[in-house]
Amino acid sequence: FRHGEASEVAVPTPNGTVYFGEQHPLVLVAGPCSVENEDMIVEVAQRVKAAGASFLRGGAYKPRTSPYSFQGHGESALDLLAAAREKTGLGIMTEVMDTADLEVVAEVADVVQVGARNMHNFALLKKVGAQDKPVLLKRGISATIEEWLMAAEYIMAAGNPNVILCERGIRSFDRQYTRNTLDLAVVPVLRSQTHLPIMIDPSHGTGWADLVPSMAKAAIAAGTDSLMIEVHPDPAKALSDGPQSLTPDQFDQLTQELSILGKVM
Ligand code: PEP
Ligand code: MN
Repeated sequence: FRHGEASEVAVPTPNGTVYFGEQHPLVLVAGPCSVENEDMIVEVAQRVKAAGASFLRGGAYKPRTSPYSFQGHGESALDLLAAAREKTGLGIMTEVMDTADLEVVAEVADVVQVGARNMHNFALLKKVGAQDKPVLLKRGISATIEEWLMAAEYIMAAGNPNVILCERGIRSFDRQYTRNTLDLAVVPVLRSQTHLPIMIDPSHGTGWADLVPSMAKAAIAAGTDSLMIEVHPDPAKALSDGPQSLTPDQFDQLTQELSILGKVM
């Protein structure tokens, strides 16, 4: 069982310091699955900022199931994220897949994301633990809560106490109606087992845009500290994860609905 107070993760962004944690308002992280081009990333950044997000997410390096699927634009996409940050003041959250890329990713990212598929990559965990940027640690697709917490320990043991835990759905048997099974019971479990801030990702957690608003609300009811939501200007044309992406209008509508649930802004 957890001992002591909930900890906060304070992240400096151009728009001011954003705090993740039980004692702080809900933090909204939104943006496309992949950074596709400058126009789309800047447009999404402006729209999600107007709707209340304080972080822009977007992948430069993408962990795709198939090697023939779009793999992300890599380093050039990091420059586009930096441009979006410059234009909007939003903090940037983006994934690092390989220890060799950490330095360039951490130059642009305000929070470095370790994705579900790398939750067990101990070399990467140690390396993100040995640098200064806060780390978003996604739960592995079939990781137990214990394994997930131990992965967080790897980061903290290497010297970085600023870890946020993100539930993004676990592998289950139904892959037709839901891509993953969003395990919202982790919220009260994590609350009792760890002091670390909690994020819920209902986009990867369900796989379908029409399920995202209900599960975002359920996550708030369960007590999450933050939400990550995929938003794309034209989901039908997205290079990755279009079916689970909200349009900017849908995201705007959702944040209006969330703001009456409390813990928001
Ligand atoms: C993502 O955030 O786009 C992503 C690939 O997430 P996950 O690692 O949870 O699949
Ligand atoms: Mn995605």
